[in-house]
Amino acid sequence: MIYYKNCPICKNKNLLIIKKNFFIEYSKKSYYLCKCSKCYHVFVKNPPNQNCITKYYKKKFWNDKIIINNEDINWKKILNKTPGSVERYFRATRQYKFISKYIKDKKKRILDYGSGYSPLMFIFKKKKFENLHVFEYDQSIIKYLRTQGINNYNKKKNKFDLICLSHVLEHVLDPVRFIKSLKKNLHKKTLIYFDVPFQDYKEQFSENCHLHFFSKRSMQILFKEFKLIDYNIEIHGFLDRFLLKIFFFFYKKFFFEKGKKITNPSIILKYTHKIWIYIKNISFSNINIFISRKDFYGIFIPQ
Ligand SMILES: [Zn+2]
Repeated sequence: MIYYKNCPICKNKNLLIIKKNFFIEYSKKSYYLCKCSKCYHVFVKNPPNQNCITKYYKKKFWNDKIIINNEDINWKKILNKTPGSVERYFRATRQYKFISKYIKDKKKRILDYGSGYSPLMFIFKKKKFENLHVFEYDQSIIKYLRTQGINNYNKKKNKFDLICLSHVLEHVLDPVRFIKSLKKNLHKKTLIYFDVPFQDYKEQFSENCHLHFFSKRSMQILFKEFKLIDYNIEIHGFLDRFLLKIFFFFYKKFFFEKGKKITNPSIILKYTHKIWIYIKNISFSNINIFISRKDFYGIFIPQ
């Protein structure tokens, strides 16, 4: 079992415990949340072991969110099946807009790491990009995406022009080791797109399977051999904060206090979700309820 005595990103020894009894969805144990005094990285001090993490992402993570029984089902339909997936699709639209400023050639090799059903590759494909790959633990997803013309990550042809790490880094056990392991997939000009939730440990309701919470400084230290060429940290305006407060007031009142979860089936919840998808679609709202509310994203290149 890992028990961090130093910051996993900058190795600083001066750590502050900011939360005891931190809860992780796929484990019954209780965890400590720590903050590094130097790079402001927040992390789980005593994270679950790798086996436990791999097992969760191999089967449970996507299955809890999108279940498909029929492989003939249309890709876009899958991507709009649940309120969470609708929000992911919107996020992918924003990601494409940001990334496509830097990648124009449709023949470039692109990898979506930890893709799930990959709304991002769906959009790249729609925009006529031809060389699209995914890495995903869940084999049923890989099998499905292959039928849609998306390649499975192939170790033999392993250099990419763009690697997308959308909502990946906060889930991995050891981000430093993870970035090292990616090096074999890089050439001199490979773009790396990252996207992580920003300070979601401060939020009342979150997914609770994150082990790392990055600051701008800790992200830059993690990618110390790279150059940050563009980034953004999302902020909520007054109206966004107000709407979120209302949503969560009702969620707390009707669902959480009765020990229910957002993903648990119930008729009221089903209709609430349908209404939410409708509101999200017509308003193009920036607010997310099921996925990360505020993101920190950007592009690195090797230097
Ligand atoms: Zn640190």
